[in-house]
Amino acid sequence: MNDLSTEADVIILGSGVAGMTCALAAAKDGLRVIVLEKSRLIGGTSAMSGAGVWVPANHVAAREGITDAPETAMTYFRNALGPDSANRFTAHWQAMCDHGGAMLKMVEDETALTFACTPEPDPVDVPGALPRGRMVSPLALARHHAGPFAKKMRRSTLPHLFTYHDMFSPNPWGRPFHTLRKMGFTLLKRWATNTGGQGSALMAGIIGGALKHGAEIRLDTRVAALDIDAGRVCGVQLSDGSRIRARRGVVLATGGFEWNRALYAQHFPGKTDWLCTPDTNSGDAVSLALSAGAALDQMGEANVHPALPTRYEGRAHGMPVAWHVGPHGIIVNAQAKRFVSEYDYNLGEALNAKGPDGQPLNLPAWLICDRRFLFRSLPFSWYALRARNWIRRAPTIEALAQKIGLDPQALAAQVATYNGYCAQNHDPEFQRGEPMWERFRSGNWAPGSRNAALGRIEAGPFLAMPVNRSILGTKGGPRTDEHGRVLDPADRAIPGLYAAGNAMANPIGTRSVGAGTTVGPHMIMGYLCARDLLAGGAPSTQTLGKAASR
Ligand SMILES: Cc1cc2nc3c(=O)[nH]c(=O)nc-3n(C[C@H](O)[C@H](O)[C@H](O)COP(=O)(O)OP(=O)(O)OC[C@H]3O[C@@H](n4cnc5c(N)ncnc54)[C@H](O)[C@@H]3O)c2cc1C
Repeated sequence: MNDLSTEADVIILGSGVAGMTCALAAAKDGLRVIVLEKSRLIGGTSAMSGAGVWVPANHVAAREGITDAPETAMTYFRNALGPDSANRFTAHWQAMCDHGGAMLKMVEDETALTFACTPEPDPVDVPGALPRGRMVSPLALARHHAGPFAKKMRRSTLPHLFTYHDMFSPNPWGRPFHTLRKMGFTLLKRWATNTGGQGSALMAGIIGGALKHGAEIRLDTRVAALDIDAGRVCGVQLSDGSRIRARRGVVLATGGFEWNRALYAQHFPGKTDWLCTPDTNSGDAVSLALSAGAALDQMGEANVHPALPTRYEGRAHGMPVAWHVGPHGIIVNAQAKRFVSEYDYNLGEALNAKGPDGQPLNLPAWLICDRRFLFRSLPFSWYALRARNWIRRAPTIEALAQKIGLDPQALAAQVATYNGYCAQNHDPEFQRGEPMWERFRSGNWAPGSRNAALGRIEAGPFLAMPVNRSILGTKGGPRTDEHGRVLDPADRAIPGLYAAGNAMANPIGTRSVGAGTTVGPHMIMGYLCARDLLAGGAPSTQTLGKAASR
């Protein structure tokens, strides 16, 4: 223990993208930073992620000739997230719009990372949405950029030999043989040089950048408590009894609380298919922040997406991919009724919707499809078929309904109604395939031509698969202001305490404003925490204004 530092300007708990972006930004401008990671592996969910990064008004889009501005992005935020949230989190959104671009530029300048735009539009089709430019992702990068941590980087359930960009073209999920033909040599080279795309690239780059600027990172290190002196958080106590003093502040970037059974059950009743994150994400930010007198918020919000069953670290786990999207399938609830467009990026919001009694409105839910659904992605089908009893089969819709406990007549009527929409080339209930995102997802079919998202369910055998919420990270935790300062119930900043990423009360919530609505905004919040720490942090008894209040 003796040769380890016992004092720093900033202590960051958690080595995911929120914590490491904060570490990079703070260390680059001269602060002494220590990152403490509970796991023996570095990178958290972020290293497992696709690293689709949503950042408004960024320089990568400008480089590719796309026009965006903080005001346009703010218009999008307001229209996409609605008036209730607008009253509570407007200041956070404004800060993200104003500083997101500078954050991404800093990351590209200070690391070995190069970003490029993905082809994705904003998923909520409202004024201010862009057809392209806010979604970026890193090009492939060798893990050796993470220096001594290269071999300690957390691996993913996703195939990280591919970049996020590769997923669209050549499209390994949809066209595996074509991809192998086109990319065979590149993949071999990436494999031989321990190079990865997606979260592996993102985290190798950011970890490398933070190390270059002198940040110290310790793995397998447990924090037992915050040190609090006269209301100010001034350090941490480790589980081995030692202490580290933080001259400016402690940043909670410990990810979500999905692996904390009691907290999770309290805020997410009803059916969950899989958790998709490292099991060290057990909500430590919640207990640590409460010990300092913080207010909690957004506890029922999460990054929710359907997932395919897989195994990770020896246990059943989810691999979040869009396996549920295809023309010959629909998703129904326990009443055998559709409740959302299956092509909507925000399907997760519908899966997570709760009634006034706090119980899920639409769970359990089932994907109902015909056998053609399995042919759209051979790799997806391989995962689906590999999991025992996950796919239920029957020769008729009525028999299928009986197998999964739905009313046979109701399901047959729902399928007939949907098939009728296919004949009309229009889904009057949910406009499936018509908004900008859904058109993109169904191959950018031209207006007036056949709606490529609509395909009849008619060719038996018929199949059913569970499609309940899977969790890519809960989004509730200590409430903060737009600088990431943790607030008490009277909206006063708790001096010396910050939160970022899934550990904080997320200002965006379950609805996604972009396909990378966690990684991008988490990076921005980490960066904003660093800016505030560099400026000296919150004075001792600061009361904040209306912006962050309910
Ligand atoms: C397979 C997959 C793909 C995804 N793809 C995308 C995507 O493309 N775009 C997107 O926006 N989002 C994506 N997500 C979600 C995204 O990865 C997460 O929202 C994001 O990475 C969370 O970042 P974070 O820094 O808040 O937490 P994490 O990256 O989870 O990091 C938290 C870290 O804190 C550590 N920790 C916990 N408790 C303590 C403690 N007491 N002390 C010290 N350390 C502690 C944990 O071990 C962990 O390493 C994906 C998720 C998954 C699972």
